[in-house]
Amino acid sequence: MCEEEKVSLEDHASNIAKILSLKSLPEMMYGNEARNFVKKHFPKGYKESSSGAFLFDELPEIYRESGVVCVYDCSVGTLAHELCHAKQYEDNNKWLKMNLFNKRYRKCLYAFYPVEKEALEFAIKYLKDVNHHDYGNYKSEYCKTRIFWIVSSVTKTVVLFLFFYFLFVLFKNFF
Ligand SMILES: [Zn+2]
Repeated sequence: MCEEEKVSLEDHASNIAKILSLKSLPEMMYGNEARNFVKKHFPKGYKESSSGAFLFDELPEIYRESGVVCVYDCSVGTLAHELCHAKQYEDNNKWLKMNLFNKRYRKCLYAFYPVEKEALEFAIKYLKDVNHHDYGNYKSEYCKTRIFWIVSSVTKTVVLFLFFYFLFVLFKNFF
């Protein structure tokens, strides 16, 4: 996986790093190598359906300086997205510091969580600027992702509400 496109992905990676003014290019991994790396170092954060990941504080010391960009699906959009996270990490972006509140926020509203929103929008802009054939796809996936997260957070809220309502009715009848 990725072997044919690897050269072009590496060209894009250095181009993107220049645009982001990254001080150093992080360790890059593609395809199955990337999947296996995440499974090994951050099994909790691995999702089969994801297209990539950026790892940082869950890694051994040698990788921690600039983090590791993992691109599972070998796409330029994912590459741009994850490199944007590398830049956020380099800048010591406070949103990457995952306290409990941020974790919940990210879980409930992924596409609206500031670091994700920035990375998704950066990737769309990059694909557009280089006139990449994935541009249309990536953009429509982004729109679908936003709709999905709105619907799922509304559903979760309704379910939670019904659950407490059920408890309330139960207790009222009990006493
Ligand atoms: Zn992301």
